[in-house]
Amino acid sequence: MMMMMMMMMMMMIIIIIQAVRTHQHNTDSAVLQAARCLKTEIQKETRKMKDSIAEKTKERWHGKRMHGQLPHNLDEKLVDIEQSYRWLKSGDTKGETESKIVAAQEEAISTNYFKNKILKEETESKCRLCKQHEETIGHLTSGCPISAKNEYLMRHDKVCTHLHYSIC
Ligand SMILES: [Zn+2]
Repeated sequence: MMMMMMMMMMMMIIIIIQAVRTHQHNTDSAVLQAARCLKTEIQKETRKMKDSIAEKTKERWHGKRMHGQLPHNLDEKLVDIEQSYRWLKSGDTKGETESKIVAAQEEAISTNYFKNKILKEETESKCRLCKQHEETIGHLTSGCPISAKNEYLMRHDKVCTHLHYSIC
């Protein structure tokens, strides 16, 4: 990234030197036109640079074994990506809560499965509650038969309550 920034600076210096040379031989209106062209050129290069950095950041994120799971698992035919990430853009959630939700989505929470399979610790990978299934985020949030009796039911009721008040 530093190398790209240096190249960008060098290009801008070359463009400025060319503009100065042109200025020595042209009239005032030509200088203004050259300045407009220079401004447009710099804006284009800046946009290209930002797009390039964003694309590389996205590639690095998707390339990570754990952190790229969510984008890999989203089927764009079934999931509205824009709506799914809208809660992140709205800024209604505290930063701490937001980071916990994102960590859970990326399977980056210290579950037994994570400790056993990823960190290679000598712990049981099975769920601490039911002891039947692998303790993954997916299992904890929607697949554990022990949690289904209480926590999932309470969550369901809270969502229904929220929907009821929203509709009213
Ligand atoms: Zn379980």
